[in-house]
Amino acid sequence: MPTIPNTQLLDAARRAVAAASTVCRGLQASLDLSAPMVKGDRSPVTVADFCSQAVIARTLVAALGPIRLIAEESSAILRDPAHGAHLEAALAALRPIWPGITEVSLLDTIDLGAPPADAHSAMPSSFWTLDPIDGTKGFLRRRQYSVCLAFIDRAIPTVGALGCPNLPSDRAAPLTSIDARGCLYLATSDPAGAQELPADSPGGTAVLLPSHQRTAPSPPHTVTICSSVEPSHSSLDRLTRVLDALALPYRLVRLDSQCKYALVARGQADALVRLPRRRDTGYHIWDHAPGACVAAAAGCTVSDALGRPLDFAAGTSLFNNLGVVCAAPWLHPLLIDAVARAGVLPA
Ligand code: AMP
Ligand code: MG
Repeated sequence: MPTIPNTQLLDAARRAVAAASTVCRGLQASLDLSAPMVKGDRSPVTVADFCSQAVIARTLVAALGPIRLIAEESSAILRDPAHGAHLEAALAALRPIWPGITEVSLLDTIDLGAPPADAHSAMPSSFWTLDPIDGTKGFLRRRQYSVCLAFIDRAIPTVGALGCPNLPSDRAAPLTSIDARGCLYLATSDPAGAQELPADSPGGTAVLLPSHQRTAPSPPHTVTICSSVEPSHSSLDRLTRVLDALALPYRLVRLDSQCKYALVARGQADALVRLPRRRDTGYHIWDHAPGACVAAAAGCTVSDALGRPLDFAAGTSLFNNLGVVCAAPWLHPLLIDAVARAGVLPA
């Protein structure tokens, strides 16, 4: 199969993520969010997760022809007769942008991205990976969430699109409010940088994010570190020990989803640090590839907590890595050193 240029892949990703972000935004405003469906791992999932995955799969196929897509969701829950009302709600949400949609076409399109049953399956040499709604718990709280799509080529994210429908572009605005426009971040691994656009008009003019400086800021400033809202997703206790070892004044910003990568990419935060409680905690590739691509394109350094490159081809999780550190280049080695000295990584 001929190789498709990154610019063409990025254009398809931009349209797919923008369309899904609009659908999610509408559903966040209109859905009853008090009773989500619950998956086998006890995590919540909503009609919007399924709509987003379907819209993205459909848009990519229309633009590019047959694709390999490894995404978070499969249609199994939606096929359960107990969730008939959710299936109806998904069809109703998509009908305006998907003429002729049927139950079969919706469910089969979701399953274009169904993840392999075995998380350790051999990955194709290149594929798309998708988290249709990252931070579902943030979505349910009507806070931050993101729509996250990346193209992986030989273990590296070469195209990333990060829809942040509630994230204000105004760096001074509170992160807890729902912005009227939201932000969309686009990047490739080519040296063109990362772009920011309004999520509600992705055909508009893109702004190039300034590339991160390699040297420490002078005079020194209080470093801003992003971490999860959910304590079970990343250990706050371990993070505090790392930041004590770093011995720089810091403040923590806690928000859901890969919006954390966007904040670091755009220079509003200096780092995101994710520390596992257990060695076998598998971070899903779709939870990191899109954000990592955008942050790296903006000049950030992205690695695991031991400083090793993230390996996006070890399976559906980052099985060859432990934790994640994404930081401004001057801060990254200091954080890796602080992680080592704090002795916080599980044996
Ligand atoms: P965050 O927005 O930082 O809370 O991260 C959200 C992501 O954390 C979700 O997409 C989940 O895939 C992932 N996640 C869920 N449970 C865990 C866990 N126990 N450890 C690490 N990550 C998790
Ligand atoms: Mg996720």
